[in-house]
Amino acid sequence: MYFNERIETMERLQLRQLQSERLVKLVKYTYDNVKFYRERMDKAGVKPEDIKSIDDISKLPFMQKQDLRDYYPTDTFAAPMKDIVRFHASSGTTGKPIVAGYTQNDLECWAEGVARCLTAYGVSKEDIVQVSYGYGLFTGGLGAHDGASKIGAAVLPTSSGNTAKQIMLMKDLKTTTLCCTPSYALFLAESIENDPDTDVKKDLHLRVGAFGAEPWTENMRKELEKKLNINAYDIYGLTEVSGPGVGGECEYQDGTHLWEDMFFPEIIDPVTLQPVEPGQQGELVFTTLTKEGMPVVRYRTRDLTHLIYDKCRCGRTMVRMGRILGRSDDMLIIRGVNVFPSTIESCILEFPEYTGQYFITVDRVNNVDTFDVDVELRPDFANASEDEKKGLKDKLVNRLVSVLGIKPSLHIVEPNSIERSQGKAKHVLDKRKLA
Ligand code: ADP
Ligand code: ZN
Repeated sequence: MYFNERIETMERLQLRQLQSERLVKLVKYTYDNVKFYRERMDKAGVKPEDIKSIDDISKLPFMQKQDLRDYYPTDTFAAPMKDIVRFHASSGTTGKPIVAGYTQNDLECWAEGVARCLTAYGVSKEDIVQVSYGYGLFTGGLGAHDGASKIGAAVLPTSSGNTAKQIMLMKDLKTTTLCCTPSYALFLAESIENDPDTDVKKDLHLRVGAFGAEPWTENMRKELEKKLNINAYDIYGLTEVSGPGVGGECEYQDGTHLWEDMFFPEIIDPVTLQPVEPGQQGELVFTTLTKEGMPVVRYRTRDLTHLIYDKCRCGRTMVRMGRILGRSDDMLIIRGVNVFPSTIESCILEFPEYTGQYFITVDRVNNVDTFDVDVELRPDFANASEDEKKGLKDKLVNRLVSVLGIKPSLHIVEPNSIERSQGKAKHVLDKRKLA
């Protein structure tokens, strides 16, 4: 099922034409209305007339989060304040938050993006959609809410937290679709497992999970699908570009379709800033083709991924994005080796004995990096003998060494001692950055 069949299955040549028309308009619009864009284009020696089609996009300068911080709060807005109807702010995971402003049309486009995702997951007006993303400045809650409303589903706006009540309402109102971060979904699943009054298959009606806002892995998908008896789908987005629903998976779970008629993606080499070969990994860059309030032009997301242009079995022609490995600034360099937390998550989840909760601590002692990983055993394995625990530990250490190329100090900690997240999980403490 498609939400907007004409657009989602548009011939790529025709899509390119639409993107070209929209880019030409956008460049003129931002040049005329925003000093920031005018100055940068003037400096780069590019005039709006030089941009005649989407092929000319590479003539335009890139922008980064720091630009939005420098022009905080609203100096990159292109629409007059009277036309702004909503603000959001990024969660500030990596520093000072940035503020986004939306016109009514921006909210419609954003909701359409989420509606396309939900429809691709098989969600319809028949469904009860529990939105356990945080409501407020974070785009997750209201973004998922507006998208679910657009398809006419019944929205249960629980926001994040208060897990016991979430489970009660999920049961009593027969929630079919759960929207939250994968780490909160894992916590909910654990809480349901530990609740003697709730059986996932008998008492719950969950069918679909719409998970995003942080990196997650195929192994986490399997874990959540099994534990919650659902199909779990990726939803991707970021505040600077609008919010969740910049793209989402289809029923084939084989890459996240990006809604390219609204959000034009490019992949560049983060060092040379040149486009990578098709299909190669690099940094994802977006240009918003329809946004009015706070458009962005060639915005560097710092998210590392690759794009797949082959037509998908679902019939959608829109490009697919591979799993996000992480942001370039999530990458830890430990003893000279590049380590992504998502790789560690994936290894831990290969072993059914572990809960999937983990915490990484990195420090530097006597000029040598230390690398500690805390993991928990599932309650049914927590009482294993010391010998058995040692065996389990060795197996995981060996796996991590073979995948990462360096050896962590692994610690099996008490069940439930690793802090659970209700939103985006914090998996890392890098003490070297505090020094
Ligand atoms: P902040 O940048 O402060 O965390 P956002 O909520 O805008 O605020 O976060 C957007 C970022 O979250 C994306 O750039 C990406 O790194 C991450 N993200 C969002 N959705 C996904 C997803 N489905 N998979 C992996 N990472 C995601
Ligand atoms: Zn598809």
